[in-house]
Amino acid sequence: MEEQDFGSLPLSQDSFKALWESVVPPPLPFTQMTGMTELFMNDPALAAFDAQLFDMGPEMSTKESVTPPASTVPVTTDYPGEYGFQLRFQKSGTAKSVTSTYSELLNKLYCQLAKTSPVEVLVSMDPPAGAIFRATAVYKKTEHVAEVVRRCPHHQNEDSDAEHRSHLIRVEGSQKAQYFEDPHTKRQSVTVPYEPPQLGSEMTTILLSFMCNSSCMGGMNRRPILTILTLETPEGLVLGRRCFEVRVCACPGRDRKTEEENSTKAQSGTKQTKKRKSAPTPDTTAVSVKKSKPASSAEEEEKEVFTLQIRGRKRYEMLKEINDALEDKEKKTKTSVKHEFAVPSCGKRLLQRGEKSDSD
Ligand SMILES: [Zn+2]
Repeated sequence: MEEQDFGSLPLSQDSFKALWESVVPPPLPFTQMTGMTELFMNDPALAAFDAQLFDMGPEMSTKESVTPPASTVPVTTDYPGEYGFQLRFQKSGTAKSVTSTYSELLNKLYCQLAKTSPVEVLVSMDPPAGAIFRATAVYKKTEHVAEVVRRCPHHQNEDSDAEHRSHLIRVEGSQKAQYFEDPHTKRQSVTVPYEPPQLGSEMTTILLSFMCNSSCMGGMNRRPILTILTLETPEGLVLGRRCFEVRVCACPGRDRKTEEENSTKAQSGTKQTKKRKSAPTPDTTAVSVKKSKPASSAEEEEKEVFTLQIRGRKRYEMLKEINDALEDKEKKTKTSVKHEFAVPSCGKRLLQRGEKSDSD
């Protein structure tokens, strides 16, 4: 029945939504959907649809966190400045148990929700008295950068007593941390006074924690973010700036490892990928839905193969991913069905059952 939908639907967003709802009644596990979501996010045309897709009810509404485009877009280029502002992260590796780990390769911090990530700050000479560090989160991708990064409504509600409950980034271990929201841009930041390194140490450590998962619906919603750390004068003049990407997730070690491996693979395969990408993308591509498994009479309908014309590679890849996920799901379902009911083709199992009941 799914395939019929694929075949008959026109190619508008509305019908895509309908298609989506019809093909994925109980949503696939989100781990399977990650790539797909990424694709949605990359396609501004699908942004509206995406918000609806992940709207999990009234309390998860994204409306609260969507603010009008800010007039000032934060700068995300590194700038050591005259004080030689630098960041360093502890080498935590990619063990399963690690709660915060930094990838030099990707300039990306992976950490668990609300767990402390120590960030070491180095300067080549003392900044002016009263200097501060400021941490601000910003969406990495151009199409999201205008939106202010805030915690999702769910996590905000959990912290209803904290004044800075809507702030994604917190500074731990300092009574002097101050939380700001720019009255014009509504961007949120946290500051902490610059403190010179303790005797015998060359750097100062700031303890950051991130109070939502990257996947939080109504919040980051799987959109990658950057953290901007600035060294500023008390008047807010920027003396130095450093940026790094952050992913807040359940398994920082695993995710770092996977993403580093993927990045290495992607780089070694860059030539081929580039070739393909630079070639003019066909206006129309086709995805075919194929069933490789021999179908029983009941599955006769599902055996039929349909061809769908799709305009644009992005959309094609997105739909292909949905199809692949459905295929996977079906395979899994079939396997588990076989285990449960011992289908006639498993002659041996049936025989064994029969023998057993006889001897009983
Ligand atoms: Zn959250």
